[in-house]
Amino acid sequence: MPELPEVETVRRGLAPHLEGAVLTRVEQRRPDLRFPLPAGFAERLTGARVERLERRAKYLTAALDTGETLVAHLGMTGRFTVQSEPGGGHAPGAFHYDAGADPRHTHVVLETEAGAVIGFNDARRFGYMDLIATAALPAHPWFARLGPEPLGPMFHVEHLQNRFAGRVQSVKATLLDQAVVAGLGNIYVCEALHRAGIDPQTPAGSLSPARLGRLVRAIRAVLEEAIEAGGSTLRDYRSADGGLGYFQHSFRAYGREDDPCVKPRCRGVVRRIVQGGRSTFYCPACQR
Ligand code: ZN
Repeated sequence: MPELPEVETVRRGLAPHLEGAVLTRVEQRRPDLRFPLPAGFAERLTGARVERLERRAKYLTAALDTGETLVAHLGMTGRFTVQSEPGGGHAPGAFHYDAGADPRHTHVVLETEAGAVIGFNDARRFGYMDLIATAALPAHPWFARLGPEPLGPMFHVEHLQNRFAGRVQSVKATLLDQAVVAGLGNIYVCEALHRAGIDPQTPAGSLSPARLGRLVRAIRAVLEEAIEAGGSTLRDYRSADGGLGYFQHSFRAYGREDDPCVKPRCRGVVRRIVQGGRSTFYCPACQR
């Protein structure tokens, strides 16, 4: 399932094709994804210019000059593919992909004035899209309760101190609360807690400011490294599987049950426990 770094990689891959682009043709191949597409979806997009392509948590948002914003969520298997005509106007060095995804699962196609053909492909259809008035976006139920972006300036030790204060819930579960911090999922929470040397079962409210500082730095580091790795994949056409946002990371804790801990000088073994119905991978030797 794509997490924040994958969505950010998709955004960076699409931005050269979409930002400033006019959508000249929009094809909607089915009435619904996970949810029904809004009435007049293709008509409302056709002729619009994309002013900005941004990411909030795991949502991609394309603000249009029509006053609406196209919001897209990749769900579990959603991906964007980009094809552009040779010499079709994409800037040198821009990401250029041929669709390797099964075209039967391409449900929405956006074509730009410059000749880019952007497909939204989603085999399992847990992804979704909507058109929302840009002015209404902050109050929309998908966005209203989101905490700060983990890579943004509002995410810092004082923020975690405030949100963790008095909480007896585990730090693992608390970090998955999207109102505490936006866009963090199971994988990167496990990775960040391993990096910070914090036992995922620790009650959130019991962490000292020094440990919260380590946690903030670890969260930023694991996300930034994953985004950097995604960017490298985007630059290497041969390792791409045809879509934007799917690439294999190597994780230090996640998925490594029974493996020796990779931290220097740690002799621990990674264990898997279940917290709130989801797997947590951690090293009991160096995470305390
Ligand atoms: Zn360890």
